[in-house]
Amino acid sequence: MELYSGYISRLIGELSVLPGIGNKSAQRLAFHIINMPKDKVENLANAMTEARNNIKYCKECFTLTDNEICPVCKDETRDHRQIMVVENTRDMTAYEKTGKYKGVYHVLHGAINPSLGVGPNDIRLPELLRRLQSVDATEVIIATNSSIEGETTAMYISKLIKSSGIRVTRIASGVPVGGELENIDEVTLSRALDARVEL
Ligand code: ZN
Repeated sequence: MELYSGYISRLIGELSVLPGIGNKSAQRLAFHIINMPKDKVENLANAMTEARNNIKYCKECFTLTDNEICPVCKDETRDHRQIMVVENTRDMTAYEKTGKYKGVYHVLHGAINPSLGVGPNDIRLPELLRRLQSVDATEVIIATNSSIEGETTAMYISKLIKSSGIRVTRIASGVPVGGELENIDEVTLSRALDARVEL
């Protein structure tokens, strides 16, 4: 027997696929949504559809953006030869919030994770290597998370590009082990950047 109406069950089902949303949270959200004013619900649904339909990957750094080239890559005052490698757009945003970093980024959209079958070619790593062939980079700063996957990815990238003579650095581990970059405050991030070490 269905506990709820088919519509509510479907809404709960769709919400529960979101990360961090278990069945209980999905139920809470579903009942919240159906009690919201109709126009608010429409705005929410439209925002989701429009974001999904219109957001692109930047052609240079692969961050998520509204344009072909993101505002950071477009900015000519930044140092385009210093490239910071991050796992995702949220990490890039975290570094941008510090206001300290004046180089550009490369967004991998993940990290190498053999246990989940995620290999180097499943993230935007081939794109980084291609980019390094056309840009005369002075430094690649590896700012992947300090999780096992982040460290594995950092070591892998370092091995690949060090032989090319490009300076490779890793942000300092003032960042707690297993800590997700995006949850770390701006002061700690700035410090981790300043105290980066040669790989
Ligand atoms: Zn970009």
